[in-house]
Amino acid sequence: MVSRYYPFSRFLRKRFGAPVYKIPLDAGFSCPNRDGTIGRGGCAFCYNPSFGPFADRALPIDKQIAVWASRLRRRHRNAVKFLAYLQNYTNTYGPPAQLERIYDAALAHPDVIGLAIGTRPDCVPDPVLDLIESYAATRHVWLEYGLQSIHNRTLVRINRGHTAEQFMDAVCRTRGRGIFVCAHVILGLPGETPADAVATARALTELRLDGVKIHHLQVLRGTPLAAAYQNGGLEVLAPAEYVRWVCDFLEHLGPRITIHRLVGDVLDGDLLVAPRWRLTKSEMLRRIERELERRGTVQGSALTDRPPD
Ligand code: SF4
Repeated sequence: MVSRYYPFSRFLRKRFGAPVYKIPLDAGFSCPNRDGTIGRGGCAFCYNPSFGPFADRALPIDKQIAVWASRLRRRHRNAVKFLAYLQNYTNTYGPPAQLERIYDAALAHPDVIGLAIGTRPDCVPDPVLDLIESYAATRHVWLEYGLQSIHNRTLVRINRGHTAEQFMDAVCRTRGRGIFVCAHVILGLPGETPADAVATARALTELRLDGVKIHHLQVLRGTPLAAAYQNGGLEVLAPAEYVRWVCDFLEHLGPRITIHRLVGDVLDGDLLVAPRWRLTKSEMLRRIERELERRGTVQGSALTDRPPD
């Protein structure tokens, strides 16, 4: 069945002629919103190990890749090509010479076809973009910017430490360098409505992003959001609500933007305070597909001002 949205897996398969599996890596970076450079508390939702619970920062990059490549090959007979995903913390937060050593190590494995680099939009000075552009000349390279919402009032509320304008500036400076650009967003952030989420989708469409990774808001133990939730100051989305939010979002998102994720990974377990949906990720994906089918809509179908091809 062809999906009613544009999954990243389809994009990769078309481009490389085979499935490409992402290998999650932890290169030992820090984050300026935690080390005091921008802030100390971090983002209100952030329990960073939950973003890459499968990476082992104690191992050097080449060992992490070797461990994951053989694990994925045992699990999937078609796992031949890999994308090295620098996921945890801010993976452009360092001098270019240090970044170069890390990126080189990630690309050294013969079956790694490229890089996906997770970072903040305020951590990509031009010399860092110049370095990443040099890899994009010969390899497949994504920059994944944490944005979460296009609304500055929300960014303040969740203590992101950057603005929507800084995100737009980073995207504009990344454009034209052969680097694919993805944004991470969270649906159901404090104070936001479905209309706010739609406005975020429309802004990403106008910016002509290449990819979007969508998470539902999860309240994780030990985070500022957990305290707010336990005090009754925060509500989370029920599964049916999330399905509606994400379908609204997709309908207002440009049809050429690849969808890297539609729902967060941490759906249960000790770390999770709320929401406790007790549903598998595949069940949530099925419900989203079914809702789009019920509505008779697809990704981008609510846009009348689609970007030109
Ligand atoms: S920028 Fe990323 S690593 Fe830093 S506090 Fe926010 S979510 Fe966590």
